[in-house]
Amino acid sequence: MRSLGREPFSIAVVSGKGGTGKTSFSASLALSGQPVAAIDADVEEPNLALLLGDPVLATMNVSLSVPAVDAERCTRCGTCSRTCRFGAVFSFGKAVPVFNDLCHGCGACVLACPEKALYEVERPVGFVGRGDANGIIVVEGRLLVGMPNPVPVIERTVELGLAEGLDTVIDSPPGAACPMVAAVRKARAVILVTEPTPFGRADAEVVAQVLREMGKPAALVVNRSGILEEAPPFEGVLGTFPVLARLPFSRAVAEGAARGVPPTKVDSSWKDAAKAAWEWARRVAK
Ligand code: SF4
Ligand code: SF4
Repeated sequence: MRSLGREPFSIAVVSGKGGTGKTSFSASLALSGQPVAAIDADVEEPNLALLLGDPVLATMNVSLSVPAVDAERCTRCGTCSRTCRFGAVFSFGKAVPVFNDLCHGCGACVLACPEKALYEVERPVGFVGRGDANGIIVVEGRLLVGMPNPVPVIERTVELGLAEGLDTVIDSPPGAACPMVAAVRKARAVILVTEPTPFGRADAEVVAQVLREMGKPAALVVNRSGILEEAPPFEGVLGTFPVLARLPFSRAVAEGAARGVPPTKVDSSWKDAAKAAWEWARRVAK
């Protein structure tokens, strides 16, 4: 672990819909020249490392504590069913089945069981990799195929990335649901990368409302600016966010991304936008 001699700073990058350039912008922030840890919390399709040099990653497993039933102790009282908010454990007839795919590993049913008939077992759900890409520490989460809940892997990935003691860039999953919230919860400022299409704007507005609820300072980077001849101004909560940069559509950037070349190497406007984002984030961070 390296030390900055000051409190590290974390900035998260989110989008509404996928494919807006969120990961490309995360890579641009990571490549801004300062020592950073780049955290890929998009654990269902992590690809930030590919834009940062594809380092070799040493991995560790992530597991979730899920309940199992000691049938000899269980009296079928139903307390566990009534306790679980996710419908992951049921008591009916002579059985108390646990539906692991629905379980969030909160442990509430284990604590509530009056007979101490529930105990916890570890269920592998993913892994976190760590590597060094030319001085940038890359921390990447990966959800195991078939696992329904990415949140435990995201939380562990962010935790390990922040433990590096460096400024961090967190590449969040797309969308506005629990995975995005888990990724940005510890960030001190958030960049919302969007595009001016109706679909992009609608999804970004939902994310903006969630960020407002969370009390996160947030700003916009508009990718593919000018793609529509007449794009109306941003409205709603989105319209209250400052616009840090408008990046025009660039075929060179798109082709570079497909080959694993970060946009900062083919278009200087991405470098300028990343610089502006760091400066804004440091000014407004809570
Ligand atoms: S709370 Fe405990 S004793 Fe009651 S049904 Fe659930 S496992 Fe059985
Ligand atoms: S650990 Fe939590 S989520 Fe899982 S079955 Fe028990 S109460 Fe439900």
